[in-house]
Amino acid sequence: MLKPNGHYRDLKESYLFYHIAQKVAAYRAEHPELPLHRLGIGDVSRPLCPEVIRALHAAVEEQAEARTFHGYVPECGIPAFREAVAGYYARRGVRLAPEEIFVSSGASDELGDILDLFDPSSPALVTEPAYPAYVDASVMAGRRVVYLHAGPENDFLPLPGEETEADLIYLCSPNNPTGAVYTLEQLQAWVDFANRRGAVILFDAAYEAFIADDLPHSIYETEGAERCAIEICSLSKTAGFTGTRLGYTVIPKALEREGMNLNAMWVRNRTTKTNGISYVLQKAGTAVFTETGLAQIRDNIRVYRENARVILQALDAAGVRYWGGRNAPYVWMACPDGMKSWDFFDLLLREIQVIGTPGKGFGDSGEGFFRLSAFGDPEETRAAADRIRRLLGSGTRTGKAQA
Ligand code: PLP
Repeated sequence: MLKPNGHYRDLKESYLFYHIAQKVAAYRAEHPELPLHRLGIGDVSRPLCPEVIRALHAAVEEQAEARTFHGYVPECGIPAFREAVAGYYARRGVRLAPEEIFVSSGASDELGDILDLFDPSSPALVTEPAYPAYVDASVMAGRRVVYLHAGPENDFLPLPGEETEADLIYLCSPNNPTGAVYTLEQLQAWVDFANRRGAVILFDAAYEAFIADDLPHSIYETEGAERCAIEICSLSKTAGFTGTRLGYTVIPKALEREGMNLNAMWVRNRTTKTNGISYVLQKAGTAVFTETGLAQIRDNIRVYRENARVILQALDAAGVRYWGGRNAPYVWMACPDGMKSWDFFDLLLREIQVIGTPGKGFGDSGEGFFRLSAFGDPEETRAAADRIRRLLGSGTRTGKAQA
């Protein structure tokens, strides 16, 4: 009899967005006349920029002619895409060879697939609250997960202590869900720790394009990261590719453990387990990194940034404590009056028809907090923020929810 992967039994029920959808559907059935205001989505609302659309059309036309048609493309990425990403890093002073950059169909896929490189006996460290895929992908692979608590006492930016146990370290900066961003000194502390311990950092940079202040976009801005870090990035939030699917992963050639070179291992992995990513999509991704493409995606990001500013302004006016929102598309607020995060979700839905994301959905450390997203439509965001300001600034706050 075939034995299934029993580690799937160890997964916790992933009910966050399902549960939200159920609650919203029930409310809608009861109150079809009331419009809902969404501040919960992690998906983007702006379309692909014109330069990307132009590149998509041009690549499709190439595929229509025998003379320009492309069949299989190199598994690790077409040279134009890898060079374009290397050029993007070079603007911030990070020198990478194109062969250190691997195209992917998005960060989620990579966060799971990359675990192939590591022995499952090595525990993974996850800072919590966390993007749920880190934990679930590790559990599916039979890996033990160790949690490091992020909270107001460390500004949601925990650092390693000498007793910290971890061989594989997930870091996400700017963070989903807290919006917190590590400084260069803090990232350096993680890199030094990983190099001392022989650990490997999986650095999720999916939100790097949202950084406005002078903070590191890449872990390779630190000293020594090329010997201990893999960076996983995505065009999903940077350039609106959530439905189009494209990302990239950086594995430096200097990254070795026990005499095995992780870059060479990943080449072997990709050339065995994939036949590459669509030529058309890679051409679209290459267009993102042109001068015009970068200017156009910045216009979209400016819209989300303005949404975040509107949310922060409302929370300031209501006297609510929050984190994030300045260098990230997520605002992480403390639920008022010590409310639990699902109770606060119910309160917002029932009283002002605003939908957010309960912090508890990102792990136990998220209890008592709530995530608001800046990815929505500007008008809807303004209306929702105004409602939150009026509800939380009115002093009535939680009375009804607790009744
Ligand atoms: N990493 C983080 C922190 C995310 O929030 C997300 C998506 O929300 C992803 C990765 C996945 O991105 P992709 O769409 O590239 O799979």
